[in-house]
Amino acid sequence: MLSKRVWKSLSEKGYIMGQTHIIECSRCGGLLLAAEGKKSRTCPYCGARIDAKTARKLASAEDAFTASEVLRELKKQKGFSRPQP
Ligand SMILES: [Zn+2]
Repeated sequence: MLSKRVWKSLSEKGYIMGQTHIIECSRCGGLLLAAEGKKSRTCPYCGARIDAKTARKLASAEDAFTASEVLRELKKQKGFSRPQP
């Protein structure tokens, strides 16, 4: 697990792509991350191919780390997260 500081420095060096969007799978409603410039993603939940251009964008973040934090919050709100053991 990378710390936020490591993520930030990687991001500043350009190793991690910039703006990242949180998009919704049109088939199952699952949430996933799509980096700016990515044309399509495969849904990790149902395997559907999602066109990043036409997919519903729920939020955008300035980097992949922030996007993953936002995604976690959105999942919590949606009740999408799996119950913790
Ligand atoms: Zn899906």
